[in-house]
Amino acid sequence: MREITVSGVRPTGKQHLGNYLGAVVNFVKMQDEYNGFFFIADLHSLTTHPKAADLQANVRQTLIEYLACGLDPDKCTLFAQSDLPQISELYLVFNMLAYLGELEKVPTFKDKVRDQPNNVNAGLLTYPVLMAVDILIHHAVKVPVGKDQMQHIEMTRNFGNRFNHIYGVAYFKEPFGFTYNDNPLSVPSLDGAGKMSKSKGENTVIYLADEPEVIRKKVMRAVSDSGPTEPNQAKPEMIQNLFDLMGLVSKADTLKHFGEQYNGCTIRYGDMKKQLAEDMVNYLAPIREKIKELSSDQNYLNKVLREGGEKARISAGKTVSEVREIIGLKSH
Ligand code: AMP
Repeated sequence: MREITVSGVRPTGKQHLGNYLGAVVNFVKMQDEYNGFFFIADLHSLTTHPKAADLQANVRQTLIEYLACGLDPDKCTLFAQSDLPQISELYLVFNMLAYLGELEKVPTFKDKVRDQPNNVNAGLLTYPVLMAVDILIHHAVKVPVGKDQMQHIEMTRNFGNRFNHIYGVAYFKEPFGFTYNDNPLSVPSLDGAGKMSKSKGENTVIYLADEPEVIRKKVMRAVSDSGPTEPNQAKPEMIQNLFDLMGLVSKADTLKHFGEQYNGCTIRYGDMKKQLAEDMVNYLAPIREKIKELSSDQNYLNKVLREGGEKARISAGKTVSEVREIIGLKSH
């Protein structure tokens, strides 16, 4: 039996190169090695009160992009979180096991309280409970997450163990965070600082669905400086970022070529960006084509969600009926 893994993504719109290389590529690898449950976390996204039509469209877009990146419904279980009513039921049970004090201490909750003081709803507070349920409901043992999510996995273990302890059972297994790499890849932003993130503005990210002309424009506008003045001088972050992006999408020879030009102070960033833009366009071409193809095939998308939901409901339904039995809820 293959180990079970679960991972979700909030349907917040289009995925960018950072999402792809940082997370989705790993899911694609994992589907061959694990019994993978990959879901679109539409219930989680309700904390921000999205408009109904936007939520629908974003769930579709996320599904399209997951499929375009290589997630294969024949190899994994791909579904929308809200298609499992069992999630909401188990969430209620686990809310009774989660203490206010421990939830209020969670750093991501504190960040939200600071960033959006006008919408500190109870769903934000219990976000780690819902996440624990997403994982425990399928008895997953490995959860591909970044460092910032490790605390949520620890809370998931605590909630599962607490359930076992209170009800005197050895029912839930302990899940652990998982990465393929000790040093997870960080895809740089086009604005010269830090990692690629939508929060820094539309022009600082390359979306998987961006048309070649859009990619060219964004890359040509990427922040750079006036160039090195001494041979072999250290690269400032904005320049290192361009080289790092090139390392992700260009051939080794290309990277070496511009590295030598930098060290010899002959580099022209316009040329480098032009090359980077072309390599980026080519790198993303197969995904972009697949996104277009899938976007016009609503029947197929419906089928994927319907069949994925059916498979996931079998796993979730079994857990919820066992939990009902364990905690003494019987149907009458
Ligand atoms: P977000 O949409 O920003 O919440 O990101 C979802 C996931 O995508 C994160 O948990 C990371 O695994 C991955 N990710 C996002 N941005 C980057 C980036 N710039 N570099 C690497 N991975 C990223």
